[in-house]
Amino acid sequence: PGSGWRLGAGPEEGQVWAGAADGGSGFAPGSLVGVCLPQKTSENWVLAERLFREGLREAGFRGDVQFANGGVAEQQNQLSAMVARGAKVLVVGAIDGSQLGGQLREAREAGVRVVAYDRLLTNTPAVDYYVAYDNYKVGVLQGEALLEGLRRRKGHAPWGVEIFAGSPDDANSQVFYQGAMSVLQPRIADGTLVVRSGQVSFPKAATPGWKAENAQRRMDTLLAGVYAREPLHGVLAPNDTLARAVLTSARAAGKEVPVVTGQDAEVESIKSILRGEQYSTIHKDTGALVRRTLLTVSALQQGKAPEINDDRSCHNGVKVVPAYLLEPKIVTQENVRSAYEDDPVLRRIANP
Ligand code: BGC
Repeated sequence: PGSGWRLGAGPEEGQVWAGAADGGSGFAPGSLVGVCLPQKTSENWVLAERLFREGLREAGFRGDVQFANGGVAEQQNQLSAMVARGAKVLVVGAIDGSQLGGQLREAREAGVRVVAYDRLLTNTPAVDYYVAYDNYKVGVLQGEALLEGLRRRKGHAPWGVEIFAGSPDDANSQVFYQGAMSVLQPRIADGTLVVRSGQVSFPKAATPGWKAENAQRRMDTLLAGVYAREPLHGVLAPNDTLARAVLTSARAAGKEVPVVTGQDAEVESIKSILRGEQYSTIHKDTGALVRRTLLTVSALQQGKAPEINDDRSCHNGVKVVPAYLLEPKIVTQENVRSAYEDDPVLRRIANP
């Protein structure tokens, strides 16, 4: 509650300056850096694990990179253990960014610097920096893609659509949703879009645990109910895992393929976009995000202020967290072949 980004704010393109907070006094090279990742709910996290291991080693740190597949309590224990083992920086991709306050306070008291990775840490003063993609922009791009897809593939309005959001414990989910609704809400209000289920609010649209089975079950129920005799033209899906779950459900119900958005540029979704099924995804290069985070860690090690490009949009309920926000890119069938020029693996998937 009270956390999240300020609506509509975001970094100005190309704007970069040295951190507002100072970098502290630095610490010995070769020190322990702990990286806490959430659960493997999408491919980006799995890739981040490998890139952090390699990147920390190359930068000369002792790295400890851990998933918390067991949930919040496991992640809390991992944080405490890393502090006890003398970590100088904690990089945290939280399962639930509002549940780590106690551990982060301990870390802060031990002089550990805390960097929120991809997901903001909320309702705590004990977070120094935030490195992420511009999540509000991600939502805006998804909302715009849904409208564009409907115009291109589904004839004239009004269009029947449904709204899916991410996991309620992930601070990003609200931000994606708000960004998307900034585009879609006016079109619901003017009757261009009709949400027949009436499930528009964030709690109604949310998908616990970012789990495909939860999205699929909800879609199955809607298709068998409100859409038994009405067409469903489009679905706002917050990421690729849930987009594919929605498409699976539509296929099983024998419905025509709705226009479905996504996020993460997952391999199966790129293939689906090439086939003309999933309409869009969002490319957020994990390599660039990890590199930016490692630059932040290195600056802290040297006692310098890390670069940030945003000092106003990421309010965590207690304070504005200085941030470096990267630009997300929309991908549809039109640009999918050229969207991954920098990524040899995805480039091959997108150009079979
Ligand atoms: C990330 C998304 C991802 C989702 C589920 C979010 O916090 O920003 O990229 O799809 O978590 O793993």
